[in-house]
Amino acid sequence: MKLTEHIANRGERTLFSFELLPPLKGENFDSTSQTIDPLIEFDPCCIDVTYHREEIIYKERADGLLERRTIRKRPGTVGISAAIKFKYNVDVVPHLICGGFTREETENALIDLYFLGIDNILLIRGDNPAGEKSFRPEPGGNRYALELVKQAVDMNRGVYLEEDIINPNPTGFCIGVAGYPEKHAESPNLATDIQHLKEKIDAGASYIVTQMFFDNAAFFRFEKACREAGISVPIIPGLKPLSTRAQLSALPRTFSIDLPEDLVKEAEKCTDNRQIRQLGVEWAIEQSRGLIRSGVPVLHFYSMGKSDNIQQIARAVF
Ligand code: FAD
Repeated sequence: MKLTEHIANRGERTLFSFELLPPLKGENFDSTSQTIDPLIEFDPCCIDVTYHREEIIYKERADGLLERRTIRKRPGTVGISAAIKFKYNVDVVPHLICGGFTREETENALIDLYFLGIDNILLIRGDNPAGEKSFRPEPGGNRYALELVKQAVDMNRGVYLEEDIINPNPTGFCIGVAGYPEKHAESPNLATDIQHLKEKIDAGASYIVTQMFFDNAAFFRFEKACREAGISVPIIPGLKPLSTRAQLSALPRTFSIDLPEDLVKEAEKCTDNRQIRQLGVEWAIEQSRGLIRSGVPVLHFYSMGKSDNIQQIARAVF
């Protein structure tokens, strides 16, 4: 079922969803089950599966020279999404990115998802491969998430890259896109970023999932600015519970977000990561309660593997 249908049928209830990473290459389904099993009792409307592009690494050869290799540590987004859907009878949202894909490869990936009966997709640009300063599209690939949305919307109308296909089937995906309450790192300001977000909605995306944030005021400001800009689709807040001391600097650096002073002060009083993890749970429970009170349609949680902390939050708020 489409996520927008889940939202339309929810009544007053805020729905629960979460996101996980596909297993590392060489692992089996166990790590995925370990993330999902503790959360399935909360009846997720959808489970998102992230997409991970290739990385470039340099391996030293026997002759001392460095060999450049392209590797993908977490392949299998499409396969694991289908495995989750069929094992748990739950809707899944595989992510698809521009980076590393030609438009033809994108089309083929969308055809795989269509054949697997997957109704929802989250379309994003992807980041630069490590070591590259700016995003470089694949030759013949999409440059912005907007172009990826347009391609998927075309397929929803039965328009494929080859014009001479006889009786092409429309795919019918429900398309989500990313939004940034504290603006995307490359954007000159929030208003410009929201204009680009609106272009993705005007092109046919049906909902927005936000980047993580730790201060609900940032989300409410963003939501208001989106509505004022004429964006009327559901906006789903994304929450990540703080879980290690290292994240105090890693999260702002990686995701270009602020951590509130009060949260940082409390984290500095913690003597180990067990205490930080508990603080992260309590903070996210407070955030969740405030967001539910404001009537958000879905609360979306970022899990990075272990989901015991999200289980504690879900127990407290759902
Ligand atoms: P875009 O919408 O293309 O925007 C990128 C930048 O370009 C923004 O600054 C925007 O304002 C600007 N821009 C857009 N259009 C134009 C234009 N026409 N002219 C000039 N500037 C423009 N990454 C992954 O690799 N895999 C994942 O699975 C993944 N999942 C994510 C899920 C969520 C909910 C979020 C919030 C992010 C996710 N990301 C993921 C990260 C994402 O790929 C990065 O944040 C990426 O840098 C931007 O993606 P986007 O889709 O927002 O890009």
